[in-house]
Amino acid sequence: MEKLRPRVLVVSLGGTITMTPIASGGVAPALSVDQLLASVPGLADLDVELETVDFRQLPGASVTFDDVAALTVLVRRSLAAGVHGVVVIQGTDTIEETSYLLDLHHSGPEPVVVTGAMRNAAMAGADGPANLLAAVQTAASPAARDMGCVVVFADEIHAARRVRKTHSTAGSTFRSPNGGPLGYVVEGHPRMLVERLSRTPELRLGGSRPTVALVTVGLDDDGVLLHGLGSRVDGVVVAAFGAGHVPQRMVPALQELVAAVPVVLASRTGAGSVLTGTYGFPGSERDLVARGLIPAGFLDPFKARVLLHVLLAAGTDRDGIHAAFAAAG
Ligand code: ASP
Repeated sequence: MEKLRPRVLVVSLGGTITMTPIASGGVAPALSVDQLLASVPGLADLDVELETVDFRQLPGASVTFDDVAALTVLVRRSLAAGVHGVVVIQGTDTIEETSYLLDLHHSGPEPVVVTGAMRNAAMAGADGPANLLAAVQTAASPAARDMGCVVVFADEIHAARRVRKTHSTAGSTFRSPNGGPLGYVVEGHPRMLVERLSRTPELRLGGSRPTVALVTVGLDDDGVLLHGLGSRVDGVVVAAFGAGHVPQRMVPALQELVAAVPVVLASRTGAGSVLTGTYGFPGSERDLVARGLIPAGFLDPFKARVLLHVLLAAGTDRDGIHAAFAAAG
């Protein structure tokens, strides 16, 4: 019997990988998926059947929750129709958030791979073709199954839940400070170093569109941005110092806020978990958790904001929000 060729859907949201120079100066999204695929050396030699969709043509900064919600519907339909894996091309600026959002909506075994480029198609050494090739190889491979949504970039494979954009221009910008990459693409094959990945139970984007604010704490912060915030937003993520600390004089404003909306406590450090039971001073993580803030664990503030958005959109109550962060963080 003839062996079935893996079918991979390649969907574009835009981003630098699709950008070329425009008359008014600078670069902007322009290339279609088919044009991009035609520029990838070695792609035609792969034993893969490619399907393409030009879904959006946006810089990463302008992708919305609604765009990703619509994309999850397309992904789900395509997988149900027999596609083996999906590659999403998009701007790197928001990959750490969109990939996690995709991950929260995908509980199946099929690889959903997000990639992009740091150097646009007109630049010497553009990284888009190499990233796209590695992404397709990953999406088509049984080795990448059961890992949820992953980000493939510079031949590294990162879990959506952990990956961060860590550099504004470097090609190796994507890193997983907590735990490192799940694997690498070696000689065209994904080689996973992690055999099993705990998956977050699938969540569905509900009908409502909550507003979740992200507030980063700074030196001598008096919490002025927090006053009245509870009447304007549906939830707040606080990117606190270190293991989850804020200045003492910020505590009353946080107390007021937590009475109005769910408030999640994450760390602004970029790696590590917030604590829950070590420090006892006013404004410490123990103090804030006792006042009702929800610890984000290892989830960074940006992913915590995505998770809180999804939970609020699904109408989750505070106990449910606590439980979801305990499981995901
Ligand atoms: N500004 C670009 C974007 O996110 C950056 C990139 O794609 O690398 O669309």
